[in-house]
Amino acid sequence: MRFKHNLSRRSLLHIIGFGALATRLGLDLIQPESAVAATLSADAVLKQLMAGNQRFITGQSISPDHGLERIRSLVQSQSPVAVILGCADSRVPPELIFDQGLGSLFTIRVAGNIADDASLGSIEYAVDSLNVKLVMVLGHERCGAVTAALNALTNGTHLPGHLESLTKVIEPAIVQAKQQQSEAFQPGELLDQSVRANIRAVVQALSTSQPILAQRVKQKTLKIVGGYYDLDSGTVETII
Ligand SMILES: [Zn+2]
Repeated sequence: MRFKHNLSRRSLLHIIGFGALATRLGLDLIQPESAVAATLSADAVLKQLMAGNQRFITGQSISPDHGLERIRSLVQSQSPVAVILGCADSRVPPELIFDQGLGSLFTIRVAGNIADDASLGSIEYAVDSLNVKLVMVLGHERCGAVTAALNALTNGTHLPGHLESLTKVIEPAIVQAKQQQSEAFQPGELLDQSVRANIRAVVQALSTSQPILAQRVKQKTLKIVGGYYDLDSGTVETII
């Protein structure tokens, strides 16, 4: 799977170095205010997210940090504990499925949870400037974007508008899933395997993205994982 990782550090600094533009993007340039969040390890953050998902699927969500007090505490700075690169699908909102509040998750959502230059730059900002230590690529069961890519690839059809630019990015993962297809696959399982292959491909692309993400992964100061959301049960499992 190929991505254009040509966002240079200089251009990233250009993006985050000017207050007006950053404010327009909703990005806060002040360093994290919460010493607690800054000291959490990636594993501890993952554990926190999974505990939130457990509350969510058992109907015990506590919806933390939603009040006026929390809003006021975030006026000057933010200190998110994780980046979620998730699908835009309305059924998979990260704050709800992980039972997190305001200021907890730095969320990027795009159909098919793909990593284009804009989402990559956003992730780099969170990692480099906000010291986020955990990135999760969050795909999900019966993803419409992966389904569209699978259908286009299978039938050789062309999608209208900008849809094709989206599905083209996903297609290499589907080709990979098809190559691994064996008789062990149940009917209809190709879509699910394609969803999982797409998640793994994006995790791989982020983990090898130079210079910011790959360097931090190598230094073990950043963990990038792939999450799979089960639409039927609401459960998130890590698959890579
Ligand atoms: Zn989706």
